[in-house]
Amino acid sequence: MSAVSRIAVLGSTGSIGLSTLDVLARHPERYQVTALAAHSNVERLREQCLKHRPELAVVVRPEAAALLAAQLEAAGSPTQVLAGENALSEIAAHERVDTVMAAIVGAAGLGSSLAAARAGKRILLANKEALVMSGPLFMRAVSEGGATLIPVDSEHNAIFQCMHGSRARGATGEPRQGVRRVLLTASGGPFLRTSAQALRSVTPEQACAHPRWVMGRKISVDSATLMNKGLELIEACLLFGLPPAQVDIVVHPQSIVHSLVEYVDGSMLAQLGNPDMRTPIAHALGWPERLASGVESLDILRAARLEFEAPDLERFRGLRLARAAAEAGGTAPTVLNAANEVAVGAFLERRLAFPEIPAVIERVLARHHAIGVQPADTLENVLGADRWARREAQVAIATAAGVFA
Ligand code: NAD
Ligand code: MG
Repeated sequence: MSAVSRIAVLGSTGSIGLSTLDVLARHPERYQVTALAAHSNVERLREQCLKHRPELAVVVRPEAAALLAAQLEAAGSPTQVLAGENALSEIAAHERVDTVMAAIVGAAGLGSSLAAARAGKRILLANKEALVMSGPLFMRAVSEGGATLIPVDSEHNAIFQCMHGSRARGATGEPRQGVRRVLLTASGGPFLRTSAQALRSVTPEQACAHPRWVMGRKISVDSATLMNKGLELIEACLLFGLPPAQVDIVVHPQSIVHSLVEYVDGSMLAQLGNPDMRTPIAHALGWPERLASGVESLDILRAARLEFEAPDLERFRGLRLARAAAEAGGTAPTVLNAANEVAVGAFLERRLAFPEIPAVIERVLARHHAIGVQPADTLENVLGADRWARREAQVAIATAAGVFA
């Protein structure tokens, strides 16, 4: 790669955003940070703007944007501040942006990820929810816009690497030739050995204390319920053109093997490394070249024992729900994702007990199936199903048993 790549980091104040800026700062000759975007963390965004001197910064909340603009002006910074949700899509499709790091959490990232796809950008995709909720629509926007989609989620980045770093899908949209199945690894989260009885009283703090990865609160809860792996199953089917039956999930508590691909000749390829998101981020940034990421060498002697076990589908019902939604297709994953976001939000606010998260999703999905799953190939259908599921989830939460005292 010779020319400097101009990058927009959406969700720059979050966990993935910080790791991305850390890798970018190691390669100032290759990357120019053109735009940064966040929801409302003015303090952190201000520091980032002063350090990386982007042309543009977006803050979704208007009051926070005004505050940032005043502070940057006072500091003599050249960065122009934009406000509102539409500005996210504006910078994602901006003519002076080549690469978009999509690291907003949840459905809030859909508009900007779609805008980047339609504008034919190189998209480094961390924001799995945007893809899961709009699968066929998103993949069509990528191919019609001529965009390049590179997975940042560690498992999908591992699979991408094990598929010889070739594009996630063949040019024809066909799955890779010779792949028998993909094995997504799951750490099992903080409650891997917690009994069903004890799960009833776990707190948001316990759920967010992940044994291997430091992440945002929403994905931390998803890892604790294993719904993160459910969303990743759907993500893998979309990215690699595989039916759900060809994607297996295996619990691997050490989080050293980030996923595996099995070929028809019996070869099984895996990608290993320390659990540090800077590895998949650097891989996605540099691909097809390799970039230093700052991640320590994996000490294979210390890692020594690598264990694998089947997931418990009784205690972690979300996995089963996600597989069923993947098989149903259409708006079923949209509804699963939206109901999950609302239920996780309620759990984090202590309005819902932990085991009720999958229970709420199950109820909303059952209602959705009764009414009729729609194709997820128009924005209208996707946004309609998302809104409907959020309302239904709130109703289910209001009537759920086991709410915190
Ligand atoms: P986080 O909560 O740490 O950060 C979220 C970022 O999104 C913040 O910058 C926040 O300002 C921004 N944001 C939140 N709501 C927004 C809104 N409505 N509009 C605009 N911006 C908004 O989350 P994270 O852990 O960095 O995760 C980001 C995404 O990456 C998620 O989709 C997650 O599933 C995915 N991911 C994260 C990890 C990880 O290790 N953290 C690993 C794989 C995938
Ligand atoms: Mg992951």
